[in-house]
Amino acid sequence: MTKGSDTDIGALLREKGLKATSARCALLELLERTERPLATFEIVDALQSQTNQATVYRAIEQLKSAGLLRRVEMGHTHAHYERNDEDSHHHHVICRSCDKTVHLDECTLSKDPKKSALKKTGFHTIEGHSLEFYGTCEDCAKNNKTTRHS
Ligand SMILES: [Zn+2]
Ligand SMILES: [Zn+2]
Ligand SMILES: [Zn+2]
Ligand SMILES: [Zn+2]
Repeated sequence: MTKGSDTDIGALLREKGLKATSARCALLELLERTERPLATFEIVDALQSQTNQATVYRAIEQLKSAGLLRRVEMGHTHAHYERNDEDSHHHHVICRSCDKTVHLDECTLSKDPKKSALKKTGFHTIEGHSLEFYGTCEDCAKNNKTTRHS
């Protein structure tokens, strides 16, 4: 019997030239089984039995540089992260009231803005972009209508 996810994550890290340390593996596993982007403090909380805050912070930075996780702008003062890989580029719709986050499974931008951005700025490369949509989810919209006291 092969235990899928452990070996995959180890291979993923080695592919990026990183050692499969327990902190890095635990971080990637955590983000893989969580359906929404996690705040840094939530990651530290979830992993505190296995490792310490400084190690988690370092692992986040290393995995971000390696392109294995990416920052999602939720409109909070703190950072949120989710798993990232080359084929998983996508955008989000985020509820401003409850933080419900829906992953849009494709890119809503064509390839052309990148070309024109390169041309306009004279940048050597543009490696990526991020774009999130903010609004009110159905539940929050309903709750606002029904609980209009105070
Ligand atoms: Zn947050
Ligand atoms: Zn909501
Ligand atoms: Zn996402
Ligand atoms: Zn996109």
